[in-house]
Amino acid sequence: MFKPALQDGHNRSVSYVRISVTDRCNLRCNYCTAPTFFQHNRTQILSYEEILRLVKVLVGLGVDKVRLTGGEPLVRRHLDSLIARLNDIDGINDISLTTNGVLLEKLAVPLWAAGLRRVNISLDTLNRQRFEQVTGRDYFKRVRAGIEAALAIGFTPVKLNVVVMRGVNDDEILDFAALTTKYPLHIRFIEYMPIGSSSIWNPADMVSGAQIIKAISSEIAGLEPVVAEFGGPARLYRLPGAPGRIGVITAMSSHFCDSCNRIRVTADGRLRACLLSDNEFDLKEALRADADPSRIAEVVRLAVAAKSAEHGLSCNATRKCARVMSTIGG
Ligand code: SAM
Repeated sequence: MFKPALQDGHNRSVSYVRISVTDRCNLRCNYCTAPTFFQHNRTQILSYEEILRLVKVLVGLGVDKVRLTGGEPLVRRHLDSLIARLNDIDGINDISLTTNGVLLEKLAVPLWAAGLRRVNISLDTLNRQRFEQVTGRDYFKRVRAGIEAALAIGFTPVKLNVVVMRGVNDDEILDFAALTTKYPLHIRFIEYMPIGSSSIWNPADMVSGAQIIKAISSEIAGLEPVVAEFGGPARLYRLPGAPGRIGVITAMSSHFCDSCNRIRVTADGRLRACLLSDNEFDLKEALRADADPSRIAEVVRLAVAAKSAEHGLSCNATRKCARVMSTIGG
């Protein structure tokens, strides 16, 4: 079937949407949430019906891939019902979830039953005390149980997102890498980005992808590049005989904007065509006005047309984007 591609002004097609289903979270990661930040109430965030209407419009424009995120998506009730209904939309070929894993042990079975087949779990440390320092909660064991449940039920791949921060968790790079020799996990080391104008980000805290790969290859022999089987911006590597993969996501030191195919929708219904740009377009207004799908599509086209060629933030950034990550959706 012919699908009209959603093209931006720089010859890139958009086929992937990340939807934040809530700005609430059951963790308080010091780098991801501001100490005080505004949370929307239920009536201010998009309902599941509104999300489904929006996704149908996006499919008509050529989007075939959806990731659900937050805040913490699993704190929103009945997420499995949204996933099941997304799965029923003709034209959606891929649904994934980014979660902190705290509630995953409990919800893995209903999520699988709803048709979810892959998850990304965020975990910055393998040390329980450190986990509590970074996240403000003593939930390390719950996350570990969530990862075990995800592997046991068969989600493929199970990716672990690790934001590497100098002096916080950069001494754990080898421990995370070693997990890939035991488990079919994809460990994705993510460069720390200047998100949230009041966040604690500082250029000196960032560890680059090249430094991460050097730290691994200088201690463990045989790290070799591999081709990505599941797509995505990570550069992938494998240790000899390992069932898992090691990836680096170098959004800061070597950005991949020229292949960016994604847009983001915040929980309060704003479309961000670039994670790191504060240029937002209001979809909620059109959805709540019961606008014709063509009117909603028009807002999407306007946002995509305005998508900048590059995010424009650098490793030495003095500018940060305004929203904290928990209110954008990672
Ligand atoms: N609660 C879910 C989770 O923990 O995965 C989804 C939302 S969370 C905002 C998504 C991801 O953004 C997490 O992996 C988090 O570590 C990452 N993140 C937050 N702030 C970041 C920053 N400044 N730079 C890079 N990644 C960041």
